[in-house]
Amino acid sequence: MVVTKRTLIKCGCLITMAPGSREASAGNILVEGGKIVDAGPRIDASDAEVIDAGDMIVLPGFVDTHRHTWQTCVRHRCVNIHPPVAYFEEMMFRRGPRYRPEDVWIANYLGALGAIDSGVTTMLDWSQIQNTPEHSDAAVDALRQSGIRGVFGHGWSLTQTGSRTPNSSRPHPADIARLRREQFASDDSLLTLVMAARGPEITDGETWKADLRLARELGIRSSIHMGAFAFNGAKRGIAEMDKYGMLGDDLTFVHCSSSSDDELQMVADNGVTVSLGVNVEMNSPGMGDIPFDRLLARGVRPSLSGDTETLGSADMFTQMRSALAYYRSYVGGGHSREASAPETLTTHDVLQFATVEGARANGLLHKVGTIEPGKSADIIMIRSGDINLMPVIDPVAAIVSGCHPGNVDTVMVEGRVLKKDGRLLGVDLADVRERAKASQDYVLAD
Ligand SMILES: [Zn+2]
Repeated sequence: MVVTKRTLIKCGCLITMAPGSREASAGNILVEGGKIVDAGPRIDASDAEVIDAGDMIVLPGFVDTHRHTWQTCVRHRCVNIHPPVAYFEEMMFRRGPRYRPEDVWIANYLGALGAIDSGVTTMLDWSQIQNTPEHSDAAVDALRQSGIRGVFGHGWSLTQTGSRTPNSSRPHPADIARLRREQFASDDSLLTLVMAARGPEITDGETWKADLRLARELGIRSSIHMGAFAFNGAKRGIAEMDKYGMLGDDLTFVHCSSSSDDELQMVADNGVTVSLGVNVEMNSPGMGDIPFDRLLARGVRPSLSGDTETLGSADMFTQMRSALAYYRSYVGGGHSREASAPETLTTHDVLQFATVEGARANGLLHKVGTIEPGKSADIIMIRSGDINLMPVIDPVAAIVSGCHPGNVDTVMVEGRVLKKDGRLLGVDLADVRERAKASQDYVLAD
């Protein structure tokens, strides 16, 4: 179902997240050809088809900046695995190498559908399961089939884990250039490509520099895990990149929990964006305190991410609630807040992380993240009359503190309706379940 005609969405409550707009109020959105033509209290469009969203809270779709979607069919596998670093042994060394292209496909399809169902309209798929070129093609195809706005993070092969992890001198797989040419040639596609790069914590000095130069030659952004756990923080990867003048606003660092203060200042000074996988970080003792306060004290506003469903729920409501609770637990909690950081976070701040900052970190703020004329119609509608939300006093607080994916009534990506009346459209769930179970059985055998 595609909104191709002029369509007027009459919103009982509209949250645009546009700069300077902090209020939620009744309003309209005019959509045409997948784009937002106008948004505001009064729009003259008597010729347009009308969508009545009078009992909805309407807002921009959420933007996730880091999800290992290939792990979706083994959801919750590692929740009770201890210590937390055992996740790496299980997924990167034991299970990852046996993935077939079809395992990647169904995991990415299921993961993307779950994201859409929960109101995530843009997701960075941090793939690192590039065992063969066919694995990458399968991952990209599944994102495309789902209808999500996908940012495909091309990583490395897990059949070569030993030679691609600490001090690796193997360059980033050259297949990324083929993908750029074959799958991401068109600028108006819903899909974009980034390098899911290993960076200085994993590769040797010349390799990470060559990898980053390749990404820049290809004209794509890079996302790099940085400072998760003390042993990575001690490597001072951010300082290393700064030393060679390689930091820039085309980079997103994931976690940064054990990165030092001076390194976070380098992040701020160079316009690097940050992705915090809050729920997984809270469930991974030893990763280090989530650096919300240290980032905000330096003017860096983070984006949020679901990280991996093997360790918890990846939906954005979980991330937002966790972020708010974590920040507030600085006061009187087990960790102290940096003195110059804001005393508290508001629900508006957190919603901004989940939309605007996500769009910025994915290099897509010109297209998504807010409801403003000229942007793509990536819009979600939440039923304000549901039993867990009504009667709504503060719509932003209701979304951040009270919502779950079941409250998401309608999801639209570039004007295409992917979920309506609380149900995904055009999806054979029984078939998806069967294929996901078969893949799970294969991947977890012995
Ligand atoms: Zn990750």
